Amino acid sequence: MTAHVIDGKAFAATVRAKVAAHVTRLREENGIVPGLAVVLVGEDPASQVYVRSKGKMTVEVGMASFEHKLPVDTTEADLLAIVRRLNADPKIHGILVQLPLPPHLDSDLVINTIDPAKDVDGFHISNVGLLGTGQKAMVPCTPLGSLMMLRDYHGSLSGMNAVVIGRSNIVGKPMAQLLLGDSCTVTIAHSRTRDLSAVVQQADIVVAAVGRPEMVVGDWIKPGATVIDVGINRIERDGKTVLVGDCHYDSCAAVAGAITPVPGGVGPMTIACLLANTLTACCRTNGLVEPEGLTA
Ligand code: NDP
Repeated sequence: MTAHVIDGKAFAATVRAKVAAHVTRLREENGIVPGLAVVLVGEDPASQVYVRSKGKMTVEVGMASFEHKLPVDTTEADLLAIVRRLNADPKIHGILVQLPLPPHLDSDLVINTIDPAKDVDGFHISNVGLLGTGQKAMVPCTPLGSLMMLRDYHGSLSGMNAVVIGRSNIVGKPMAQLLLGDSCTVTIAHSRTRDLSAVVQQADIVVAAVGRPEMVVGDWIKPGATVIDVGINRIERDGKTVLVGDCHYDSCAAVAGAITPVPGGVGPMTIACLLANTLTACCRTNGLVEPEGLTA
């Protein structure tokens, strides 16, 4: 079997187009322009790339983009003051503080200072609790994008066995909650899981969010299963730096029914979902109808 390739780049473009159409309607009919503020502390090169690309795409869908670039030695008090100012600013509907923060700053404190209604990353403890109890939440972007691709490919996920490898707060745990919300039978695996390959072999859906290049191989995959590869790993191959996922693409694609590539799978969906979350936050704040198909 050769797996169907789930094209995250193309799907993300359709999500952004949907967001852009809704943003146009909001501007024309309600005079509202959704605004996203991104706060970056320090000069981590990868974070700078992410922030630039988030800002560019925010403007492309017709939203207002606000960037706050702060020096690496910004104090916690100064950062919290900026977050509070953004919380109070009616032009801002979404706030994202780019992680990781420099070690002298308490990330949990900073994230939990964001107004939960503007928490477009879905990391605030209130949103974590809302998602965990099946209530309307702001949902973390990477798991949301993965869920959208799964729903688009399968329709209903009800009754499927899903194995999520990784239990981080930003990917693994919220992914498992979302799959449970769609009535999958969910197993969360992690570094202490015994006989991981046997666990993965039970899965109709495998979500790999580990951070270990090409760890999941084709022998672990049940024939016909759907593989969502969240991993982004830079490795040296044939003298070049290349991006690979947590799944060994060729061997998994030979067995799976469908698979997301790296790059071009989950990655593009993450930014598309950030824009979708900003739009959702704007609609909720203004008591307007939310766009369909862009939330969990
Ligand atoms: P974390 O490092 O926070 O979590 C990794 C998880 O993998 C942990 O739960 C860990 O288990 C588990 N793990 C580590 N080694 C093994 C192993 N040998 N067997 C089984 N489980 C293992 O990573 P993140 O969740 O933040 O990210 C995961 C990957 O996803 C990374 O490659 C990251 O770059 C990528 N990513 C991609 C995004 C995108 O937009 N596509 C967005 C965010 C992340 P334990 O808890 O026991 O230590």
